[in-house]
Amino acid sequence: MLLILRPDISPGDAAYQETLKYLDALPNVEVRQHEVQGQLQALTEIYLLGDTLALDKDDIESLPAVERVIRISEEYRILGRHSDQERVTGFQYQGLNFDQKTLHVFAGLCAVDNKKHVEEMMRALQANGQQTTRMGAYKPRTNPYAFQGHGKECLPWVFELAGKYGIKVIAMEVTKEQHVDEINEALDATGNPCGVILQIGTRNTQNFELLKTIGKQQRHPALLKRGFGITLNESLNAAEYLASEGNSQVIFCLRGMKSDFGAPHRNLVDFAQVPTIKRLTRMPVCIDPSHSVGSRERAPDGVLELCHATSQGIAAGANMVLVDFHPAPEKALVDGPQAMLMSELEPFLKDVEIAREAYLKRCAVWQ
Ligand code: PEP
Ligand code: MN
Repeated sequence: MLLILRPDISPGDAAYQETLKYLDALPNVEVRQHEVQGQLQALTEIYLLGDTLALDKDDIESLPAVERVIRISEEYRILGRHSDQERVTGFQYQGLNFDQKTLHVFAGLCAVDNKKHVEEMMRALQANGQQTTRMGAYKPRTNPYAFQGHGKECLPWVFELAGKYGIKVIAMEVTKEQHVDEINEALDATGNPCGVILQIGTRNTQNFELLKTIGKQQRHPALLKRGFGITLNESLNAAEYLASEGNSQVIFCLRGMKSDFGAPHRNLVDFAQVPTIKRLTRMPVCIDPSHSVGSRERAPDGVLELCHATSQGIAAGANMVLVDFHPAPEKALVDGPQAMLMSELEPFLKDVEIAREAYLKRCAVWQ
């Protein structure tokens, strides 16, 4: 059972204390508190776990600090919607709102290779009004002999360049706790010029120890990629791991499923599930057309296939796009064939805007 407290209530209030006293006395019921930072205010949610079936919803709703009560299902306790359309979605980070209504584009390098390319990328982003990017410093690779990323060595100058070009948030994959420490050290050493969303890659969706590590820290939000060979339910449960450890600032990312049925695409594009995830959970939903489609092939109408896939996801309500660009894809150390060119950034963003307008118009038709 989930209790949403009145927004004007704080722990010092008598109503709050009276409510908690009642809840703490319930037999075989564990009381867990959870702060939700909404766009305008912070809300306190209280989860009652254990023997809650016998509890009377009206009794609980009449407690002085309680605004409303929701019966929740076993799954996705924190991140789930539980059929309640009013629940707060998303979070604020670095002054930007990440929720199920907004849209952010994270165009950038799959892997950081050198300063020149990072600077060219960031300069182009700023010139196109962008404040967010992707930059891979730690690259888990299939081939052990392939470039594994520059790791912590590149972090100070990547963050400094972000600050120089007004980039507020970087999505960056991490694969272990040490990476988070290294990111924190580099951010502190450079005076926190930007924020970082910690990306958990598709190879690590069910790395439960990593999920617990990222879930325990509150400094950065997380972006969880859907596992490429597991069910949607399993991936959503992986996201819930992060929340259950204390970090509910989670963005869920679709990146295609590993299947020959998607060929010649790199993965089978799964963006039809954007609205499904928004219905089942409160997470903002990201799409990654680069790793889904995996090439810069152009359709006969002149549009890149990965741009077609992007607009399909956005027209279905996606809240974030993670997409690979590179100033010289032929020289990129990772995933060059799917990286778009700098000259394609402007048309790409225009296309995104058109798809977004289409989405908003589509919603209006159905009101
Ligand atoms: C990436 O985004 O750089 C990446 C490796 O993606 P995925 O984990 O989806 O393969
Ligand atoms: Mn990649």
